[in-house]
Amino acid sequence: MAPRKKPPSARAQLSEYRRKRDFKRTGEPAGGNTVRKSPARVTKLAFVIQKHAATRLHYDLRLELDGVMKSWAVPRGPSPDPMDKRLAVQVEDHPTEYNTFEGTIPKGEYGGGTVLLWDRGWYEPEQKGGGADAVRSAYAKGDLKVVFHGKRMKGRWVLVRTRGYGDGGQPSWLLIKHRDAHAEPGGDLVETHVTSVASKRTMEEIGGSVKSRVWHSRPRDAARPESDWTGTALPKRSKSIAEVRRERAAAEARKER
Ligand code: MN
Repeated sequence: MAPRKKPPSARAQLSEYRRKRDFKRTGEPAGGNTVRKSPARVTKLAFVIQKHAATRLHYDLRLELDGVMKSWAVPRGPSPDPMDKRLAVQVEDHPTEYNTFEGTIPKGEYGGGTVLLWDRGWYEPEQKGGGADAVRSAYAKGDLKVVFHGKRMKGRWVLVRTRGYGDGGQPSWLLIKHRDAHAEPGGDLVETHVTSVASKRTMEEIGGSVKSRVWHSRPRDAARPESDWTGTALPKRSKSIAEVRRERAAAEARKER
């Protein structure tokens, strides 16, 4: 029998998260105080989605694995329509303590802006009884099929890694709803639900005065690609798998020339 590979330590996985932040200035948790879960809860992996009005509004999807939250920034948030593939840029692992964070990161600090807890609950790999081992290998492969048990995120979804990278070198993924009883062709989860699942507050209520800030009232396609919110230049809308493949083929062809 092959020796089981030891999962990485939470501490090692959080080094990038810590390097980017000044915990004297931001109210975000430093992490590293993960309380060992009771055996009864071991198989339930937590997930959260945080709506984050940073340089550009986006939704941070976080899935628990090996003591940290694997994280993706999803510019347009999750879509319940299986035809609607949403870009999800992989970002640094976050501490599990981040799952209760809601508030405002000071302007000028990394990720400055308001954070609202948009959804939370638990998830499992689609592979029955697979647990964390199944999630770990699916994540490494870049083809992660999961079932969400949240207030707003329900049923089967997939995260597929593309071969694209952001300017900052972060892998790009697509977040796609699978067809099931919770799929809603033409539906819009992020327009339907604008309050916190934890506090019932809106972005404005969490952030205080809005003034010149633009939140969800911005027309959907008006957002220009920004280069500083995750270090990634983003397309105006999420791409289809076919588009991603075409672009990849074109890039390969250019390289060969
Ligand atoms: Mn964010």
